[in-house]
Amino acid sequence: MNIVSQMCAIAVMFVIMYFYISQKKIILHTSKAFVEVWIAGLLSLFSDIFALVAIEKRSGYPHTATNIICKLYLWTVTWVAMVAFWYICVDIFRKKELERKWRKRLWIFGILTDILIMVVPIKIYDSDNIVYTYGPAVIITYAVTVILLALILMLTKKYSQAINPRRRKSMQVWVALMFISAVIQFIDKKILIVSFASVIGVLILFIMLENPMANIDRDTGFFNLNALFEYMKEAYGQGNDVSIVCIRYGSNENDFFTREMEKSIFYEVVSFINKLPDNYVFRSSANEYLLVFENTDCAEKTIGILERRFDKPWGGDNMTMLFGEIYYLRSTELVRRPSDILGLFQYAKRNRAEFTGRGVMLINNEVIEHIYDENSVENEIIEALRDNRVEVFYQPIYNTKTHKFTSAEALVRIRSREGNIIPPGRFIAVAEKRGLILRLGERVFEIVCRFIVQHDIHAMGIEYIECNLSVVQCAYDHLAQDFIAIMEKYHVDANDIVLEITESASITEKKILLDNMNALRKVGVRFALDDFGTGQSNLSYIVDMPIDIVKFDRGMTNAYFDNGKGKPVMDAAMGMIQKLKLEIVSEGIEEKEQLAKLDELGIDYIQGYYFSKPRNAAEFISFIESNNT
Ligand code: C2E
Ligand code: CA
Ligand code: CA
Repeated sequence: MNIVSQMCAIAVMFVIMYFYISQKKIILHTSKAFVEVWIAGLLSLFSDIFALVAIEKRSGYPHTATNIICKLYLWTVTWVAMVAFWYICVDIFRKKELERKWRKRLWIFGILTDILIMVVPIKIYDSDNIVYTYGPAVIITYAVTVILLALILMLTKKYSQAINPRRRKSMQVWVALMFISAVIQFIDKKILIVSFASVIGVLILFIMLENPMANIDRDTGFFNLNALFEYMKEAYGQGNDVSIVCIRYGSNENDFFTREMEKSIFYEVVSFINKLPDNYVFRSSANEYLLVFENTDCAEKTIGILERRFDKPWGGDNMTMLFGEIYYLRSTELVRRPSDILGLFQYAKRNRAEFTGRGVMLINNEVIEHIYDENSVENEIIEALRDNRVEVFYQPIYNTKTHKFTSAEALVRIRSREGNIIPPGRFIAVAEKRGLILRLGERVFEIVCRFIVQHDIHAMGIEYIECNLSVVQCAYDHLAQDFIAIMEKYHVDANDIVLEITESASITEKKILLDNMNALRKVGVRFALDDFGTGQSNLSYIVDMPIDIVKFDRGMTNAYFDNGKGKPVMDAAMGMIQKLKLEIVSEGIEEKEQLAKLDELGIDYIQGYYFSKPRNAAEFISFIESNNT
């Protein structure tokens, strides 16, 4: 009797369980299924040995007793296949009800096959030291096992999206292993390797999937993001609502730390967080932790503790102040997908100032909706760029000297998939925030260039087209180069282009903007200062920047007619602008009286709904053709 391989396998099983139990872990459904796989594997090994012993000693016992013991082993072989099948099901059926339904089916199937194995005959072969069983019971066992293995393969294929790719791979390797060993054992009945193969399978699962170390952050001993994702996936599947507190800390800018100090403070914070009760801690980046609570009250209590602690100093000398930013997601119920959670916190961090100054930032429904809204706008922009649904409308600009429309402003639109027009107010800010404005701006400029060459605008009386630049574009150091390349590509005369800029706040931005402007001016592009009269408009800007045109904002023009402070401000501005020999465009003119007054004041250009709303290319052309002749 040769049971060496089985004994080795049992030893391996216990080593696996030792490592499994001794490590910190989150108990997920898949971990429970893994324990079941382990138990079935171990039972299979023991009953294998037991059966071999029973066969050897069968002369002293009744025939049926030996047969039953052999059949018990066959049971355990099918059990291993069943729990392996279940292990993959758990990952696929994240929903409680679905899981229950399938578990019940599997039980029925198991009991039926076990009864069948018990009632059909089994034969024992034993001679020349070679022992094995055969007959109908063995065939049924093989058949059931093969069916289950095939089902596992099928499921991993069919639900390849839902299953973690590592899990899919390891399961496939295991199935292949079981399959090969079963075939070998079937062909050569002397080689008893099926139960050994199943142990190797358990080992693969452990190493690839269930090793708790894979979910631990090495520096802190907390869980890592992989663990968070697994945990959240399960919480969603089971319909469990949890609260998450994110704590991000750091030192104040002016503080200087040595490496040792930094390390000691790091461990001080880690051990403090470690002592907080009732939660799982996940490390999400260097100085940031996510604390997951199943109970909202505990979460809120902990926020209080954190706030108080970060009001006090840290470090061996008790001298170091750290800032602690807290973000609180009260309920994950508000979040649509578990994979959205990290993005949510990231967004909250980036936009903290927008929502709260100090203290705890609550990620409530409003914030979440805002983020989802931004995401959908972002997708809309990406798809519009991809599917060529970016359009440009043109608003005619009236020249008070010639009484003709001599220019136009290009205004971007997105045509939704359904064919509706989305205005720039809806997507420009998002494009700026999500890093899409450069691509979008280039696209707009290309469309404008194409428009200029495709329709002979000069023949229509249009001298140039004004195109808006975002502050992000202005602060992009390749802007001039890119725009010049586009003009060359379409053979557009740079004199046909006026770029509208707005004031940029920072000095570095202004420096790059100036470089861009100078490079573009060299080839003949001119510039207009847009939105003059809004916010922090600065007269010195007009003097500093190499511009040709100033555009008075609608608000400024309206203020002028409201007889308030608007009038003297505009008069002063106009005096200065005219002295500098710059031209003025008044925007947002809706009424005839406004037009007459502005004309009288000597404003060079008028733009507004009074003449026309922005129009698409074809409508713009027909408007110009009928009004400029
Ligand atoms: P803006 O540059 O100040 O453009 C003028 C806006 O005022 C346009 O809105 C125009 O339709 C609107 N408008 C013109 N006349 C009147 C009027 O008489 N009454 C009223 N109530 N509104 C009038 P639009 O097209 O929705 O554009 C809004 C803003 O989006 C623009 O303001 C500009 O800041 C931005 N934008 C538009 N196109 C682009 C673009 O291609 N790139 C960039 N970066 N921003 C753009
Ligand atoms: Ca503009
Ligand atoms: Ca404007």
